[in-house]
Amino acid sequence: MKKTTVKKCKYPKCHKETYKNHGLFCLEHSRKMKENGEKAGKVLAVATATVPIAFKTVTNVIKQIKK
Ligand SMILES: [Zn+2]
Repeated sequence: MKKTTVKKCKYPKCHKETYKNHGLFCLEHSRKMKENGEKAGKVLAVATATVPIAFKTVTNVIKQIKK
């Protein structure tokens, strides 16, 4: 019998085979990770859009206190 090295899904408590040869997750979890990645990307975009505004407000407040 041939020995095949089967990579297991990196997701905790998941023991399925990986979806692709070089993939880290099984089909189900690679899809989940992609969805999460898209969500994280949106959150990050919102955060990067909001942080400079918040930073400006803070610096304005500090300026007002200093006056
Ligand atoms: Zn999995």
